Amino acid sequence: MSDFSNDQTGRAALPRLDHQIGDDVVIRIEQMNKWYGDFHVLRDIDLTVRRGERIVICGPSGSGKSTTIRCINRLEEHQTGRIVVDGIELTNDVKHIETVRREVGMVFQHFNLFPHLTVLENCVLAPIWVRKEPRKLAEQRAMALLERVKIPEQAQKYPGQLSGGQQQRVAIARSLCMQPKIMLFDEPTSALDPEMIKEVLDTMISLAEEGMTMICVTHEMGFAKTVADRVIFMDQGQIVEENAPAEFFTNPQNDRTKLFLSQIL
Ligand code: ADP
Ligand code: MG
Repeated sequence: MSDFSNDQTGRAALPRLDHQIGDDVVIRIEQMNKWYGDFHVLRDIDLTVRRGERIVICGPSGSGKSTTIRCINRLEEHQTGRIVVDGIELTNDVKHIETVRREVGMVFQHFNLFPHLTVLENCVLAPIWVRKEPRKLAEQRAMALLERVKIPEQAQKYPGQLSGGQQQRVAIARSLCMQPKIMLFDEPTSALDPEMIKEVLDTMISLAEEGMTMICVTHEMGFAKTVADRVIFMDQGQIVEENAPAEFFTNPQNDRTKLFLSQIL
């Protein structure tokens, strides 16, 4: 946990205008359960996300946050219940899984860049091989996105030559190169030195301002207050509480939420 946890974004909350959030549901999870072997890791998860919504998931380590979002792009398989992403139900149907993965970008704690490829090659790989885009178009978009995350000058370098914050911004740009409709973030700043957290959060805030549908697992509560439409608290594989940030932080209802907030704020 960095000292940044309160107001590191240095911004007022983003406007929460109802018209920014579409009526259309882009993610619907109903009564989802998952086991790792005998271990019942997710219990009766229900979650509905509308277009343009910004969700923050928090909760203790091991509570099932990563598993939940990894189920949304089928990096993990659920066993019972339903997950529907942009109208497509996730089943064993490989075509459905491929379609959903094209629409859902994911950014991980440890960046997961390809170390032997330059920044630009990291960005164009999936557009060229998965989306079959012409290289020139893919490179143009990649450069535009590297500008947007403020590191166009790093395009020809290798990930190992960049700081952690720069690598994470490359990871975000790389995801955006696939033009996803939804972005999932799994503790994107947890592996970063404190001075680099802000540059990554600022990138995420600008994405939120542009209306991206986002689910962010993070303990950066300043970010949650600024950006989230809803904060979800998980414990022991369940969604224990969910609320708008103003309510969530000032008036938590559940004892487990209260304990968690008292430990991190
Ligand atoms: P969080 O992201 O909230 O820290 P995770 O979703 O990573 O939690 O993990 C939830 C629980 O599932 C933890 O107890 C973890 O040890 C367990 N777990 C995670 N991945 C696996 C796996 N591949 N096999 C078995 N258990 C796992
Ligand atoms: Mg996790």
